[in-house]
Amino acid sequence: MFGRRNFLLILISFFFRDDQLIRDAIGRSEFLNKILKGDLLKQVVDAMYNREIKAKEVIIKEGEKGSHMYVSAHGSFEVSVKGKGVVNTFDDVRVFGDTAILYNDKRNATVKALKAGRVWVLDRSVYQKLMVRFNIKEQDEMLMFLQDVPTLNKVGNAALQKVATLLKVKYFAPGTTVIKQGEKGDKFYIIRAGTVTITREGEGVVANFGKGKYFGELALLKEDLRQATVTADAPGGVECLTLKRQHFIDHFGELKEDGIITVPTDTRKASHVVREHQDIELKDLKIITTLGVGGFGRVELVQHKTKSLIFALKYLKKIDMVEQNQQDHVYNERNIQLDCRSKFIIKLYRSYKDARYIYFLMEPCLGGDLWTLLQRQKTRRFDEKDARFIAACVLEAFTYLHERDIVYRDLKPENILIDENGYVKLTDFGFAKKLGTRGRTFTFAGTPEYVAPEIILSRGHDKGVDYWAFGIFIFELLTGRTPFRTNDASHMRTYNKILTGIDNVDFPSYVTLRARNIIEKLCRSIPTERLGCQKNGVKDIKNHRWFLGFDWIKLNEGKLPAPFRPRLRSNTDTRYFEAFKKDTDVPPVEESGWDKNI
Ligand code: ATP
Ligand code: MG
Repeated sequence: MFGRRNFLLILISFFFRDDQLIRDAIGRSEFLNKILKGDLLKQVVDAMYNREIKAKEVIIKEGEKGSHMYVSAHGSFEVSVKGKGVVNTFDDVRVFGDTAILYNDKRNATVKALKAGRVWVLDRSVYQKLMVRFNIKEQDEMLMFLQDVPTLNKVGNAALQKVATLLKVKYFAPGTTVIKQGEKGDKFYIIRAGTVTITREGEGVVANFGKGKYFGELALLKEDLRQATVTADAPGGVECLTLKRQHFIDHFGELKEDGIITVPTDTRKASHVVREHQDIELKDLKIITTLGVGGFGRVELVQHKTKSLIFALKYLKKIDMVEQNQQDHVYNERNIQLDCRSKFIIKLYRSYKDARYIYFLMEPCLGGDLWTLLQRQKTRRFDEKDARFIAACVLEAFTYLHERDIVYRDLKPENILIDENGYVKLTDFGFAKKLGTRGRTFTFAGTPEYVAPEIILSRGHDKGVDYWAFGIFIFELLTGRTPFRTNDASHMRTYNKILTGIDNVDFPSYVTLRARNIIEKLCRSIPTERLGCQKNGVKDIKNHRWFLGFDWIKLNEGKLPAPFRPRLRSNTDTRYFEAFKKDTDVPPVEESGWDKNI
């Protein structure tokens, strides 16, 4: 027989059992335990719902797009992969299908229930909303704390909001000395939770501080000796928001006694582009040969029937765009690329549409793409000097885009083409986005090995993700591979490695110290600490010693000799491209009208 007390315990554990099971399962997931903690974990667990599973039911189907993550609560499950058969069975409580909470991707395995059971489900849309809300709330809370600091509250809310992004959360266990009298101070602290005791030599305890109080503020003004000792109290210790003086200076310059800071605004440039070739119609063009096949269509080299003009014409199948929900991406790609006029970006002159396709009329680049060039190197990598030239071209493209509030979000060698002079140019603006007034965007975008941690964490991101990718890109140019690559088809292990950070990556010994240094400075996990994301913006990257002596002016004038100058016989020579079969497939008509503004 149970005692009354035992009965109550059983009753309680009956109601709460699953919550704890889910928490444990998330705790065991190498990926999720890095993302979900504390209050956020609680909110996510609360948002999950229960679903009964029938015997033989297929929960996840390989090849289909998924938008749910699961935790197995009860039952036994079988994992299979086409061509390999059953690869695993499990009957414990665990997370599966977790890539689906990040983005709408095809499942890479099938999960089937062997007997009747039960799972907990999390919808992507719910997860994403929670993440956005949580992150915005956290920023607002930090702003509130800052508003109460007299040294800072004259600077105005817009500036404080920026300062808030520099705050870090740090926990001190009971009894730990947070700052020590007489030591040099370089950090300022605000108490977020818990309490501290302040003591001064000869005076003993002078104060006790709790939530919202701050100390060490002199460190923001100047490097000074601490005036008192601050110790975290028992029983809970103290959680502080910290702000490092150097960090503050990197972003705003010195804080003056009057407490006024100026937020550096990037040089904004408007685009007034003169679009060339507006008179050219589709019917004036004839196909010479295929240059490439992409995810949604192909790119043909075309010639004007009467004028001696050559173009690249990209064909996008409308039906595929609609089926894969790419309409917004097509608009972004078109609207952004149409307005770019830079030596380092492929020009898009105009677009066309008919019942089956969207077409982009572009400048042709006959040197092929950078990925192919990389594969063709004897060592499968570029030497440092050549890598520097390529990286410099890309950095100029980014500078151009960022000055116009555009984030590119898809840097990789496949998206870079080589022109007849050997200069490289960015193309494929499918993920590019013009940032609105909020200055941040939240949706997942990019190629797994290149995505920045804040994208994986759904924290909201800005141009900082391009600088992260730029670090990955330099690594790939120099070594022939990306630093966080794994062979996991679901990419979860790649994301895990990305969250572990660049400091855990082994650099081959032939990578020079300065190359390693620029990569490590670009790939800081915290966006505000990245090279390029501070007061001097992109200048910090150009002035890094890896670029020492590089002639940026000559590069921009097109006078710097390129390391790989293609040898072309004519303006229709396609020797740098693979041979593709003629496309005889005619896609079905798609006339829902989504493309009326193209
Ligand atoms: P995906 O989405 O799969 O990356 P996509 O459909 O967006 O592809 P692009 O990446 O723009 O297409 O182009 C596909 C290929 O066509 C490129 O890798 C390149 O080889 C070739 N290509 C694209 N644009 C040009 C151009 N302007 N000049 C020469 N070749 C080009
Ligand atoms: Mg591409």
